Amino acid sequence: MRYKIALLPGDGIGKEVTYAAVQVMQAVAESFNITLEFKEQLIGGCSYDKHQSPLTDETIQACYDSDAVFLGAVGGPKWEKLPHHLKPEAALLKLRKSLGLYANIRPAKIYDALIDSSTLKKEVLDGTDFIVLRELTGGIYFGEPRGFDDKRGFNTMVYSREEVERIARMAFKFAGDRNKKVTSVDKANVLEVSQFWRNIVHEVHKDYPDILLTDMYVDNAAMQIVHNPKQFDVLLTSNLFGDILSDIAGMITGSLGMLPSASIGSKYALYEPVHGSAPDIAGKGKANPLAAISSAAMMFNYSFQMQKAAEIIEMAIERTLANGYRTADIFSEGCELVSTEKMTNQVIGNYTDIFNEQALGVFTL
Ligand code: NAD
Repeated sequence: MRYKIALLPGDGIGKEVTYAAVQVMQAVAESFNITLEFKEQLIGGCSYDKHQSPLTDETIQACYDSDAVFLGAVGGPKWEKLPHHLKPEAALLKLRKSLGLYANIRPAKIYDALIDSSTLKKEVLDGTDFIVLRELTGGIYFGEPRGFDDKRGFNTMVYSREEVERIARMAFKFAGDRNKKVTSVDKANVLEVSQFWRNIVHEVHKDYPDILLTDMYVDNAAMQIVHNPKQFDVLLTSNLFGDILSDIAGMITGSLGMLPSASIGSKYALYEPVHGSAPDIAGKGKANPLAAISSAAMMFNYSFQMQKAAEIIEMAIERTLANGYRTADIFSEGCELVSTEKMTNQVIGNYTDIFNEQALGVFTL
């Protein structure tokens, strides 16, 4: 098997964590006997410096030609004063739009070894494992009309039947591979667009009778995520609600450096850590590579249907943390403070060990 990956490391620690993730991908390729073909392209500030554009047609074309896109992060103080459309961050919006990525997935899962460093109680968190599935290309962020003058400001929250149907279908499919529960988030008691959302989600649900569907108002969902996060499996949201709830859910894992994400469309998919280019620590070997490595696990899972590889990467991360290795952002007393490189090497070592243990049938975590 051969897969083409468009590699867009970007700026700052984007580069460091991308190269860390690539080493893990290569370990997977070797163990599963597949070939990964990387095509590296510029995006963000580094692309602006070379081409006076944060996202060139060449980079977009490389993404179109790939089986999956892997992105590090973009941005930094050097480019902050550029006009909006030339800023590195503008490249992200344009890329997501060009690739038609209408769904964003952010897992909310706690690694056992980090449970004590979360701001939530251990008994609340224990066993939490859900995903926030957020509609990404519709809703109030894109609705027209929009604008403001000195007397009023306005935006429009609008969803079409097709937009709700496709994200709802994806939610039920994901739930089918997980714990068979979808919680659809809305504000149907106040917003007509939410009542419409709820109606369509229930219509689509008729095709997935083995999945349990619950509706939840967004304000209650925000409370429930911190009160009893174990109740969720797939949390289905519109664009605005998902933007907020995925950040709340993200904090379950304790650190930005731990949060992976996938954005998926009908033809293309993009995987990236949630964090930015962290100019404060860039180039110092301090970046936590685990969000990027975990994003690579999502790539194997969703784009290459290599669930076993994804599972072993996640186990390797868990084992590395259990062995007490920590980058500075997740450091706690009694642990060993390590660089990006050492953390990556530990994950790769554990990946290889777990792969071999599984192959020999002597698996233990
Ligand atoms: P940031 O995520 O880059 O950093 C926030 C804080 O978290 C910093 O203290 C940083 O050191 C720390 N941090 C982030 N990731 C880490 C990691 N992997 N390991 C260890 N520590 C980590 O957010 P910011 O500082 O607000 O933004 C910096 C730049 O990144 C800006 O230009 C911003 O626009 C851009 N940005 C890009 C993306 C993206 O590319 N997807 C996302 C967010 C921000």
